[in-house]
Amino acid sequence: MAGCVFCKIVAGEIPAAKLVEAESVTSFLDVNPVNLGHALIVPKRHLMSLLDLTDEELQAAILVARRVAAAVRGATGSSAFNILQNDGRAAGQVVEHVHFHVIPRHHSDGFAFGWRQLSYKEGELSALLQAIKKRL
Ligand code: 5GP
Ligand code: ZN
Repeated sequence: MAGCVFCKIVAGEIPAAKLVEAESVTSFLDVNPVNLGHALIVPKRHLMSLLDLTDEELQAAILVARRVAAAVRGATGSSAFNILQNDGRAAGQVVEHVHFHVIPRHHSDGFAFGWRQLSYKEGELSALLQAIKKRL
């Protein structure tokens, strides 16, 4: 899609530090890493959301993510990693072409999610449980 930076990388129109080139997915280093070795896994078709991928595309992407995570962990000497996918602007997605982040992690590396934890009010959990289950 014109104007999409990841489509341009897929098409070879702008350079990227490529790690993997497969039929439906590519992987390269993030240009502004959270930690050094931060990689992106990008299905080649221009789709915004994980929900738009075919089963085959999703399977290919997550298998490449695992392969890249193992290699990045080995190469950076990190003991851990996060695999993240920001889906939608409210979730922090900036590049509107579906992708996974593989971020190598180190103890006290200063990257904090600020993960908060709410509580359910009386009856909320069971109502939401039913609403979600109806849609599965
Ligand atoms: P998002 O916030 O959409 O989940 O993440 C987009 C990521 O793409 C960011 O971490 C950003 O650094 C990375 N990114 C944006 N433009 C480029 C680019 O031109 N090349 C590379 N390698 N990464 C990019
Ligand atoms: Zn695109």
